Amino acid sequence: MKVPFSTFVSMQKEIKKDITKKFQDIYENAYYIHGTEFQNFNKNFADYIGVKYAVGVGNGLEALILILRAFEIGAGDEVIVPSNTYIATALAVSYVGAKPVFVEPNLDDFLINANLIEKAITKRTKAIIAVHLYGQCCDMNKIKSIAKKHNLKVIEDAAQAHGATYKGKKAGALGDAAGFSMYPGKNLGALGDAGAVTTNDKKLAEKVLALSNYGSDYKYHNLYKGLNSRLDEIQAGFLNVKLPHLDKWNSFRNEVAEEYCKKINNPKIILPSVNKDNYHVWHVFAIRCKERDKLENYLKEKGISTLKHYPIPIHLQPAYKDLDFKKGDFPIAEEISETELSLPMFYGMKKDEIKYVIDCLNEF
Ligand SMILES: *Cc1c(COP(=O)(O)O)cnc(C)c1O
Repeated sequence: MKVPFSTFVSMQKEIKKDITKKFQDIYENAYYIHGTEFQNFNKNFADYIGVKYAVGVGNGLEALILILRAFEIGAGDEVIVPSNTYIATALAVSYVGAKPVFVEPNLDDFLINANLIEKAITKRTKAIIAVHLYGQCCDMNKIKSIAKKHNLKVIEDAAQAHGATYKGKKAGALGDAAGFSMYPGKNLGALGDAGAVTTNDKKLAEKVLALSNYGSDYKYHNLYKGLNSRLDEIQAGFLNVKLPHLDKWNSFRNEVAEEYCKKINNPKIILPSVNKDNYHVWHVFAIRCKERDKLENYLKEKGISTLKHYPIPIHLQPAYKDLDFKKGDFPIAEEISETELSLPMFYGMKKDEIKYVIDCLNEF
């Protein structure tokens, strides 16, 4: 049997008519940037997340960059980020001229270890980026109390956590501002690049909107040296079609995860842990195994595709050689990069596909 890591087939089938209709409407309307689809998306997404404001932007990386710019974080500043995350989190910090300061995660839930944050705070620290990695929220109460004590902003990187909750509140409503990615493979994905910023802060929302559009508050009047990071009508329209399905898609992923957690039973395999305050949306189902590469090859031979999130930790990436880190500097991040394997997880995964993955893992 062949099991892909992910496929859009079931999702696509379900929304094809509505997507096609939306495309036709937008095409006929012939208004392509910052029109009614954009306005509606901002409203729909803010309502869904449970915040006052959402601003659609070009992608997830720029969502974070725009937030940092709006908070006037830049050269000479430091921002705390987890040592295991997608590189975009750190790149956003670097892009505005600030320095990413890495803090190790927990080995069991892969999230930033809040107990290590205070040690990393200096006079230059301006913010903490809490990455809700793989679809599970960070220990936000702890992070927020540290931030309050040291007068830091809390920025959520919610690119993998659309619909995830912490103590009943959604990711994107847990800090001062949040960045989302709607890259196609994310739990809520556009049919191309897209992103969003959510916040309850009106001034910040207005500033992010202006910054995303050349720093312009009204046409040909520029308050800031902004960038062009706009959400296109066509993507906003597609997201408006897809958003009402998100909860169902996430709950399907939870059913797959429940099967995995209940039935994978092999002492060589460590299952991911879910914290009791959280609703996990399983952007990634991450297991760990000492013989990870052997397991990867074994599954490949069985026809099962997997991925590694992420094979090279950020501090060892050539792009960050200027920070002068070496192997051993962030052992937990390195351990994760050497042992983590992501299992197939997608909406519409068939019962026999799930069973096959479980059986193969148990036979390893
Ligand atoms: C995908 C992702 C991003 C970047 O989003 P893009 O839309 O690809 O720019 C940022 N952070 C995390 C954790 C991500 O997974």
